[in-house]
Amino acid sequence: MKKKTFLDKNITRREFVKKSIIVVGGVSLAVYAIKNSLFKDVDTISTFTFRNDAPEELWKWSREADFYSKNGKEVQCNLCPRGCFLGPADRGYCRTRINKDGKLYTLSYGNPTSVHVDPIEKKPLFHYLPGTKAFSIATNGCNLRCLYCQNWDISQKKPEETKFFDLLPEALVEAVVQAKEKDPALSSVAYTYSDPLAFYEYMVDSAKLLRKQGIKTVVITAGYFTPESMKELARNVDAIKIDLKGFNEDFYREVTSAHLDGVLEAIKIVNKSDAWLEIVNLLVPTLNDDMDEMRDMSRWVVDNIGKDVPIHFSRFHPDYKLRNLPATPINSLKKAREIAIEEGINYAYIGNVPHDDYENTYCPKCKSIAIERIGYIIKQNNIVDGKCSECGERIAGVWKL
Ligand code: SF4
Repeated sequence: MKKKTFLDKNITRREFVKKSIIVVGGVSLAVYAIKNSLFKDVDTISTFTFRNDAPEELWKWSREADFYSKNGKEVQCNLCPRGCFLGPADRGYCRTRINKDGKLYTLSYGNPTSVHVDPIEKKPLFHYLPGTKAFSIATNGCNLRCLYCQNWDISQKKPEETKFFDLLPEALVEAVVQAKEKDPALSSVAYTYSDPLAFYEYMVDSAKLLRKQGIKTVVITAGYFTPESMKELARNVDAIKIDLKGFNEDFYREVTSAHLDGVLEAIKIVNKSDAWLEIVNLLVPTLNDDMDEMRDMSRWVVDNIGKDVPIHFSRFHPDYKLRNLPATPINSLKKAREIAIEEGINYAYIGNVPHDDYENTYCPKCKSIAIERIGYIIKQNNIVDGKCSECGERIAGVWKL
């Protein structure tokens, strides 16, 4: 008999009907039927690698990888907790690392498939240089398999499968310096969209060069790194936003194909470093939106990384393999935020819901508006020298270059 998954277990017909009535009265049982037919084959976490899938030759955008060990012709990658063992010509789970003649190489070094300039608020980073812009890049590949990935068209592709830019680290720095001359609001490079772990060496090498030019670097990631690779990253970049995708190991394993513990460990490492940290939690209806879990998560944040780390409760929109679920009800997001504040978190936001009061920063002491936002636009900024202009309370964050 097939093993029941977390998804089977938690989305019984009865529970789905109940939640549908409470949350999205219009969702029908037909959706339930489609959903179970999609999920019935979801596996538990996989150690899958791509056997004999390495290209025959290395290319210009290759570099010997960091964080691996050798055993004869085999290698083990130690960049993320998955720890792929790769035989000759095998490719790792993230699709970007290959064993070539007994050495581990990355295939994503200087070949970003996405290049955009975004407001820093879009990342979202609300307490890091508000009102500035980030030169944002990503290559293909990812070490997770989130069923609701919004960037699956690059995250679930090999580096050689799509068109890309030719931007080796030195060329990237040059492009950013030129862009900054035209737009002085551009203050950082963001490694984002897919998970930047997929282009780790490119990210760290270019961050070191950008730091010498006075350009900041920010990382938008699921945080599924080994402690060693996360420590090295946090030493070399200026801010890291981590998606804490849920507070339930079953959800992590079956919906994202990662483990919760590895992410919590990475969050603690970043919090101890000099890099600025923010957390995002995306609420997926019926799968990770249990309010007791929200409370547990908020308590963990307060106890382990403190009440000043901003947390964003973000709205799910149907995408990729979870198109059959409704968007997160606004009330669930409001309730999650309320719980976070009850538990002592000073800065809790609602994300992906533009034009809402909950995207403003409020002074934790006098409750006046410290920063008013409309979408990605800063309407007013009342933080002076890192303090609330009304009462002088310190507002945690990095407010100036
Ligand atoms: S980074 Fe890629 S190759 Fe390395 S362990 Fe993780 S999934 Fe495997």
